[in-house]
Amino acid sequence: MTFTLIFLATLAISVLLRYWLAQRHIRHIQAHRASVPQNFADRIDLESHQKAADYSIAKTRLDNLHLVLETALLLAFTLGGGIEVLYGLWHGLLGSGLWQGTALILSVFAISTLVEIPLGFYSAFSIDARFGFNKMTPALFFTDLAKQMLLGAALGIPLLLGVLWLMGRMGEYWWLYVWSAWMGFNLLVLAVYPTFIAPLFNKFTPLEDTTLKERVGQLLQKCGFRAQGFYVMDGSKRSTHGNAYFSGFGKSRRIVFFDTLLERLGHDEIVAVLAHELGHFKHRHIIKRIALMAAMSLAGLWLLGWLMDKEWFYHGLGVTTPGTATALLLFLLAMPVFTFLLHPLMSFYSRRNEFEADRYAAKNASADDLVRALVKLYNDNASTLTPDPLHSAFYDSHPPAAIRIAHLQAHASI
Ligand SMILES: [Zn+2]
Repeated sequence: MTFTLIFLATLAISVLLRYWLAQRHIRHIQAHRASVPQNFADRIDLESHQKAADYSIAKTRLDNLHLVLETALLLAFTLGGGIEVLYGLWHGLLGSGLWQGTALILSVFAISTLVEIPLGFYSAFSIDARFGFNKMTPALFFTDLAKQMLLGAALGIPLLLGVLWLMGRMGEYWWLYVWSAWMGFNLLVLAVYPTFIAPLFNKFTPLEDTTLKERVGQLLQKCGFRAQGFYVMDGSKRSTHGNAYFSGFGKSRRIVFFDTLLERLGHDEIVAVLAHELGHFKHRHIIKRIALMAAMSLAGLWLLGWLMDKEWFYHGLGVTTPGTATALLLFLLAMPVFTFLLHPLMSFYSRRNEFEADRYAAKNASADDLVRALVKLYNDNASTLTPDPLHSAFYDSHPPAAIRIAHLQAHASI
């Protein structure tokens, strides 16, 4: 009972906080809609600025709707008795054991995905379409969804069977075994992602522009970086938003450009964007992120090991059948409610990494080119230039436009 109250109070705080931040964000954008911020006055016209404002507001309103749906689902599954019903259903079909546990957990996530389809559909075909970003057809939307669900089952079923087996068999220190298995699984997915997973959704063709290849080659050499190949991804199949990234590691490392990025940016700007991405590698941001995730999942699994024998943990969340599968499921559902308040810390850490990568780009390519590229991308993606500072501090993985550009300009002369 006490735990139910703690859970509900924490949930209420995080929902209200998220709603309040969203409303602040909307009001802040509206208040700055009338004119382009001074630093951008000669780079971005009023029409684009207002489009970005309207787009950001529409997206934030959708986030609010998502928040309501997510909270309703969480309450329906836990205190509303949804898990109890599904547990009984699978018990009748499969008896009790590993398969029942796996089916229970997967069905909860499948139902959440299905319930959220209308929001994804609305986001692409109403909001993005209205602003001219959507390139998807409904057929592609549903094929993507089907592929994602099949992929989720293909990866999720063996993973869950393995984890539940270890939880039941490995005694007091099962959480160490599960942690090793979880880390191995993640590294495996990272390793096979470029060759087996990404091609399920996009086409990758080798970059053909020889002048650009030469320019990129020079940058890599200067930075002492080797890549297996340069590829162009047909991002334009889904949206007009552009990007560039690295994927894979070790020998299979490749550089991927969105076709939309190549279309919009000049060679100098592409080199600057790539130098920023190289900065993430050189400063070991990816490895550090993996290490952080490893430490957090170890702590989480240890905590789950402790919670698993506590009756109040199950009863407090509306479940009457203690066991490995219900413990894992409740943990996965309830944990984000409690860790939500860590969000600003993670965002802060991520923004610090972005500054570091920007400095690297300023040193090895050109800060001016990166600024030009970013302004084009902000413009094309209709990212607001005037986010609410608190909303941004809480959520943004990248520094707000004005601060990021000022930071780059400070490094332009070096
Ligand atoms: Zn970055």
